[in-house]
Amino acid sequence: MTDDVYVTLAEDYVSKSRLGTYEQCPFKFKLHYVDGITVPPNKFMLRGLAVHDFMENFHANVKIRKEGLYIKLPEGVSEEVLGHVKNVIGFEKKRWEKSLEKDYPLKYFKPVMVETKVHNHDDKLFGIVDRVHLNYDDELVVLDLKTGKYNSKNYDYYRQELAFYKKLLDGSLLLKKPVKYGAIYFSGSDTLIMESVSSQQVAILTQRIKEFRKNVMRQKFAPRPSILCKWCGYKEHCNVNHFD
Ligand code: SF4
Repeated sequence: MTDDVYVTLAEDYVSKSRLGTYEQCPFKFKLHYVDGITVPPNKFMLRGLAVHDFMENFHANVKIRKEGLYIKLPEGVSEEVLGHVKNVIGFEKKRWEKSLEKDYPLKYFKPVMVETKVHNHDDKLFGIVDRVHLNYDDELVVLDLKTGKYNSKNYDYYRQELAFYKKLLDGSLLLKKPVKYGAIYFSGSDTLIMESVSSQQVAILTQRIKEFRKNVMRQKFAPRPSILCKWCGYKEHCNVNHFD
């Protein structure tokens, strides 16, 4: 592998997943993004895809009646996925009922952006945004869906994910104004977290991206074993102690 490959990778567009994979384990990053090794999706990814699919198409499929919202449950999915889907429906019903207190409920209920590939060319970032909504003060809220359960110990991590979406969207010029709030809905625990994304969080993220680019350029790809090795699909390509 010539050095050019690493320079190209370091200077390439950064996604949340590239950055996160590198920080979790640089060797795993190398196996995937440098060596091009792919592994089949695990059961958590498959569950995530099924629930995302439902949420992505929710506003296109839902029927809005005076009495409430009506939507067909997906067929051929597991009980587990169905449980997540029912939580998503409950979440949307609460949003709709709250929107009804306003003069133009649809404006606040329907997203202004759904499952959109976004590029920020100035900062060389890319990602897929689950949704952007308007809050009742007409400010923009980026919403991410997670199919796991909310864990307060991960709050700093969640904040950084929201900072990524803000930086991505604000530099994309796709929206008329900057994103003000970031929110995450956890369909596994039916939890919503939301807060204003601070410039301090964006500055921390910017520094992380800088470090990431520098480390890739210097070919720093040492394995970083942790409890997460348990679920790593690249185990068979890696000889370290996996914490099994
Ligand atoms: S098994 Fe652990 S150390 Fe090895 S690549 Fe996966 S996450 Fe990294």
